[in-house]
Amino acid sequence: MPGVGDDATDEYAVARAGMVEHQLRRRGLRDRRVLEAMGRVPRHLFVPEAVRHVAYDDRPLPIADGQTISQPYIVAVMIELAGVTSRSRVLEIGTGSGYAAAVLAAVAGEVVSIERHPGLAAAARAALEATGVRNVAVFVGDGTRGFPDRAPFDAIIATAAGPRIPSSWAEQLVQGGRIVAPVERDDGHQELVRAVVSAGTVREEVALPVAFVPLIGADGFPDPPARRAQTSRTGPASMGTRNNE
Ligand code: SAM
Repeated sequence: MPGVGDDATDEYAVARAGMVEHQLRRRGLRDRRVLEAMGRVPRHLFVPEAVRHVAYDDRPLPIADGQTISQPYIVAVMIELAGVTSRSRVLEIGTGSGYAAAVLAAVAGEVVSIERHPGLAAAARAALEATGVRNVAVFVGDGTRGFPDRAPFDAIIATAAGPRIPSSWAEQLVQGGRIVAPVERDDGHQELVRAVVSAGTVREEVALPVAFVPLIGADGFPDPPARRAQTSRTGPASMGTRNNE
């Protein structure tokens, strides 16, 4: 993907190189292929024009449909935790802008990505095509059910936080497959969980605290109106202010 929309002297390329050095390398990210991919994928071509000038800042940014493109650091951490290699088949739940799918595509063999908002899926497909990404298939649907038609996967990465890891995800992994997903606990805090599936058991470990938009679907949270009513009854966890990935 080098040369897409910029060159080495371009201000975006400079900002991207700074992002890799300061936000990723110096925070301990070590997977050479992930760092190279983050250094190549033109994040500014996946964000709305109004925020393009801050595309390489150390934070998530708003996209359409009230959703977000995740902070670059979180994108890199999730791919590194998922142990993605050039032979991996990866399922991403929550295509959003298509940016993480593009980074994954540079590291993995094949990527299937599901998005519940049709408009976001269409825009992501267009951005992936415009940036020359060929090994990502974007589908519209409820990713809480996984994507049985294309299973099994070596890794599943979810970019929205549900109340648990859906059992269908583990069923759609190869032995030794990894799930990396934010999970929202009963008190409203979220944790990034890495789960390894082997011999019929799922071993979960917590990687770090996070704050993602909600995973909405059959095995996730209910649609926003119902969820808003629910969260306002149960306490201070307000979706609007708390979720930022
Ligand atoms: N990976 C994205 C990127 O690089 O821009 C970030 C996505 S954003 C943090 C999370 C996305 O998950 C949103 O676009 C949201 O619509 C989507 N989402 C939430 N629940 C979903 C579900 N059940 N199935 C598919 N997508 C879902």
